[in-house]
Amino acid sequence: MNSAIRSSGILLQPELPICQTDLPLDWYQEEFKPYAEEYLALPDRKPGTVLPWLDRYALPALDHFGDSLLLLAHFYMGGEIVKLVERYGGKVADSYALALQAARHPEKKVIVESAVHFMAETIATLARADQSVWITNPKAGCTMEMLAKDWMVQPVADQLLERYGDQLAVIAYMNTGGRLKALAGRTGGAVCTSSNAHLVMDWVRSRGKKVLFVPDQHLGRNTAVRLGIARERIAALPDPQTWRASLRVSSADWDALDRAEVILWGSYCGVHTIFKPAMVHWWKQRGWKVLVHPESPLEVVEAADGSGSTDYLWKAVMNATAGERIVIGTEGHFVRNAREQARQRGVEIMHLADIPDPAFQGGGCGCATMSRNDPPHLAGMLDLLRRGCPPEINRVLAGDVVDETTAVRERLSDAERQSLIREARLALERMIDITERARP
Ligand code: SF4
Repeated sequence: MNSAIRSSGILLQPELPICQTDLPLDWYQEEFKPYAEEYLALPDRKPGTVLPWLDRYALPALDHFGDSLLLLAHFYMGGEIVKLVERYGGKVADSYALALQAARHPEKKVIVESAVHFMAETIATLARADQSVWITNPKAGCTMEMLAKDWMVQPVADQLLERYGDQLAVIAYMNTGGRLKALAGRTGGAVCTSSNAHLVMDWVRSRGKKVLFVPDQHLGRNTAVRLGIARERIAALPDPQTWRASLRVSSADWDALDRAEVILWGSYCGVHTIFKPAMVHWWKQRGWKVLVHPESPLEVVEAADGSGSTDYLWKAVMNATAGERIVIGTEGHFVRNAREQARQRGVEIMHLADIPDPAFQGGGCGCATMSRNDPPHLAGMLDLLRRGCPPEINRVLAGDVVDETTAVRERLSDAERQSLIREARLALERMIDITERARP
């Protein structure tokens, strides 16, 4: 299994201010407020100022836990958390590589994640009993996942399973809670990421199954089209925001669902759906190469020069040669980090939505919910763990469902959790197996 994470290559620049808006003090849990007050009182947000402050908490924690501590962050985190996590010996990766870290490093007993909750929960699902997983801010949810909680998806899946029986298998994108990953395991489906969705969908279809793809309709549609499935055989369920109250398949929808080879849950990522084909054309007409993430709408993917996962986009930037000009359609912090790194090698990077033309309104945005993990949360989490008093609300267990407004978690009983872990692991292990078998 290839789960090694290489350095992101991102360098801390002492004079470049932190790319992260300060959170209001009342957004912090009580236990984190003392750290936030100190941070907010710092004269600026330059690494030269922030680092000595953060060192006061991070270095004693590193000393205390030694090799048993593992810090993790996702590429979409605000630039400085990515850099800080690496500075303290941690790893930065996409969701696939993050998911494997606990299982691949049994010597790491305390795992601290700065990213969104589903990523931490996936790590916890694959973790061993003596490993604990902590998220620096439990309010860091993924908006796509928030529109596909199990209490929303399960009643609809039940109707589909009643009609199609074991002919239906669920593919759960990594951006789902553990309860939906378990549903994928139970129905003979698997988990997927944006880099292996085509492999997983192909595998499920080769077993003669109809697919329910959750939660991202765009990745599901892009993947189905990439596999050559006719568009009239791809059916999308409504935007979950419009049917939260009823959670029933309408009788008018059954014809299309019966015909479909792939049924898409109607969720989406607000960060990736701002992209329009006209933006792609604008850059291409000026000689730029355009690469986008497949959570973007199909028309955008079709207009671009290439599409692929976070890892694909990062490699494209890091392998570009001097003089290349690349526009990237994905999360804003990622593009900012990519631009900083590429500039040093003479490569120009722009964000797809940052068009200097009044006909296009607004620029590219970052994943605001993921960036709720800021330096005070990292400092506080490490210090509270070292002092032996971490808040239980920051501990992540498989099957937890979090209310991202209050951070309150609904937790399964031990027996329920063990059952969920068995089914969710089945879905994750199928993905890992399919992916690793396809490696050249
Ligand atoms: S960028 Fe979109 S899909 Fe990714 S974690 Fe943020 S909200 Fe979720």
